[in-house]
Amino acid sequence: MSESKHVTHWIGGKPWDGEAARRGDVYEPASGRVAGTVDFAAQEDVDAAVAAAKAAFPGWRDTSLSKRARILFRFRELVEAHRDELARLISSEHGKVVSDAAGEVARGLEVVEFACGIPHLLKGGFSENVSTRVDAYSILQPVGVAAGITPFNFPAMVPMWMFPVAIACGNTFVLKPSEKDPSASVRLAELWAEAGLPDGVFNVVHGDKAAVDGLLRHPDVKAVSFVGSTPIARYIYETAAANGKRVQALGGAKNHMLVLPDADLDLAADAAVSAGFGSAGERCMAISVVVAVDPVGDELMAKIRERVAKLKVGPGDNAESEMGPLVTRAHRDKVASYLDGAAAQGATLAIDGRDPDVLGGAGDGFWLGPSVLDHVTPEMDAYKDEIFGPVLSVVRSGSYAEAMELISANPYGNGTAIFTNDGGAARRFQNEVEVGMVGVNVPIPVPMAYYSFGGWKDSLFGDSHAHGMEGVHFYTRTKAVTARWLDPSHGGVNLGFPTSG
Ligand code: NAD
Repeated sequence: MSESKHVTHWIGGKPWDGEAARRGDVYEPASGRVAGTVDFAAQEDVDAAVAAAKAAFPGWRDTSLSKRARILFRFRELVEAHRDELARLISSEHGKVVSDAAGEVARGLEVVEFACGIPHLLKGGFSENVSTRVDAYSILQPVGVAAGITPFNFPAMVPMWMFPVAIACGNTFVLKPSEKDPSASVRLAELWAEAGLPDGVFNVVHGDKAAVDGLLRHPDVKAVSFVGSTPIARYIYETAAANGKRVQALGGAKNHMLVLPDADLDLAADAAVSAGFGSAGERCMAISVVVAVDPVGDELMAKIRERVAKLKVGPGDNAESEMGPLVTRAHRDKVASYLDGAAAQGATLAIDGRDPDVLGGAGDGFWLGPSVLDHVTPEMDAYKDEIFGPVLSVVRSGSYAEAMELISANPYGNGTAIFTNDGGAARRFQNEVEVGMVGVNVPIPVPMAYYSFGGWKDSLFGDSHAHGMEGVHFYTRTKAVTARWLDPSHGGVNLGFPTSG
């Protein structure tokens, strides 16, 4: 058995050297063994991280844009050089296959690349002569200490939606990553230090609700970005706002893929299987419901079945594996419980992934193979709940109109996709659907870094989405300046309200 690891906080440019009163286990999902422990922050540890970030803020906000950009470029090169190492680290704690983990690092790096353009992104506006010999301009200033609270499913990419933009804008940052796979965040902190980021600009505290609440209530934290499940997103939004912070809280999802009768069914089946079972369905943009418009349901199901039969389930570090285990035993059991539950409520258990063939043997790992429920209806729990695992539901629908009503009525509004060869139908769909991110013959429409990521309705609380220009605006405050440099004609006392003249 390999050595047990110990993961701790990163505060003020170095690992924390205190003794934690509480710790959590970090698992290796493929074997089920406890691979190590992670320290859980108490209030004083959160205070120390926020104090380090607060102390670093004045120097960092006044660091020139060119110097900030140069550090970001160096960080980008370092993360790229360590991509495989990071991917293996993520895979070992999360379970996803290494190639998929490398993909999430690449998508996170795209945000770093976007943030490298910060000198351009932070340009304000300037108007000469808004009044006679008076100029007006706007500047974008950082908010101060920003906090990020992130989920288990993308331990590198989701934090990288936040901190590159926050830091580029001149803020300092405290990250509270998921306690289930905490190591990637510490490795990223080490790479920041190597890139030359001043101590205290990027900090990591580990832990659970106590650490999160410590950040939400801390008077020196000015902005909170959260990504996770909907009940916690709602709580974060309400608590952070009640404590006077600006907050963006991205929640859970139930992403529908609409397949119209004229779609290329091979393309649609490839997409449903890839987007349903990639990362074992533990993606907020995973397809969890296929809505097949009559009469394509049976043919589509047959094509999905063919593809699922060929999927290889196995440990993330086996190059042949296409799908790994789930993140914890409890989560695996909960996801699996939907199979019997849906069958009892009238769905057809078309593919039962319990007891899968696992490359190298299942051992005590948290395995659940790809599973498909057919003839699912909106009243069933499998339809209503975000299952967040390798369970794909197929809903049969009589028409485009009926399918649209179903998708738009869903309380979640993260992502959706339409599969069709009819451009007019696709255009109508993207115009009508009540969902924040839409794919047309693209099953996982995750926006590029220079657009912004975020859903609608119960998938996002707050006004701004992540990264892109919305990220820049979230992490900055606009200041408008009106300036007159005196000349001999300044005009003397005038008690009237300033108007342009
Ligand atoms: P989660 O909500 O359980 O945890 C997210 C974070 O909140 C973690 O850091 C966790 O420690 C913390 N947390 C958990 N319970 C808390 C509590 N009671 N009080 C305060 N903090 C608490 O989510 P998860 O299981 O880690 O991740 C999966 C969820 O994240 C899914 O619902 C998925 O859809 C969602 N997600 C959404 C997006 C998006 O962009 N909308 C992206 C990725 C994941």
